[in-house]
Amino acid sequence: MIARNELEQALKQAGLGGTCVCVHASMRSFGDRVDGGAQGLLDAFLMQKCTVMTPAFSYHYLCNPVTDAQMPRRNAAGNYAWYREHTLTPGIYDINSKELSLEDMGVFARTVLMHENSMRGNHPLNSFAAVGEKAGALLASQTWQDVYAPFRQLCGMDGFVLMMGTDLTSATILHYAEQLSGRTPFVRWAKDGHGQVRCFSEGGCSNGFEQLAASLEHLEKRIMVGNSIWRIYPARQMSKCAADAICQDPMITHCEKTACMRCNDAVLGGPILPEDFWTRI
Ligand SMILES: [Zn+2]
Repeated sequence: MIARNELEQALKQAGLGGTCVCVHASMRSFGDRVDGGAQGLLDAFLMQKCTVMTPAFSYHYLCNPVTDAQMPRRNAAGNYAWYREHTLTPGIYDINSKELSLEDMGVFARTVLMHENSMRGNHPLNSFAAVGEKAGALLASQTWQDVYAPFRQLCGMDGFVLMMGTDLTSATILHYAEQLSGRTPFVRWAKDGHGQVRCFSEGGCSNGFEQLAASLEHLEKRIMVGNSIWRIYPARQMSKCAADAICQDPMITHCEKTACMRCNDAVLGGPILPEDFWTRI
């Protein structure tokens, strides 16, 4: 059993007390029961006065593009055959919704989202959830077209990224780094109170992201908590160094599959959007 005070001690040792932290946690990585489970872990952060942010992505709100004008080229969707063959029946998103894709996000992210004081960003597919004093400041500027605003805020607030038993293939901030390097995020479609909306979305392949480890090694702090390896990075430096590495060698993010459509389109710069893309019907 990993006790609460052991977790709090680890957070202190990692220099995370009182900071904003984007957490990607694998509860299984501890190899032992954490006192109070995911809720106990979140409580340890809150006792240390951290503001905790996690991705709270949900594909429940994904819908089909309606017209050809909404389907740009090089958008990690090939010729859109999948969307033409499948009719999605999305829910309607609002920031009070508690729906997330549990299999991808994990139980810790759900615990953050379900917390009585949690807040959620305004993005139907790739919202972030946060709890703690600075939750509002982290999330307020997220919109459909500004999917990574919470990371921009995290960087501005000298926050951290904590990979808790997870590796860089789970580090969503590296998609923000892709955007900083000049790539356009992929476009997807979703439903919220406005009806069908187009959004910049996460949608990229992250299977090659561990290849950025060497470029980030000088920023990384590692500690062990039970069997869980925690890798801690300062968000601003992490996103900047990763963006620089991507500019130098765009293939560094490419996964092992040479035919990976998402990686191939990302390496070329992402979707090609006509100037009037967001307003065309
Ligand atoms: Zn890939």
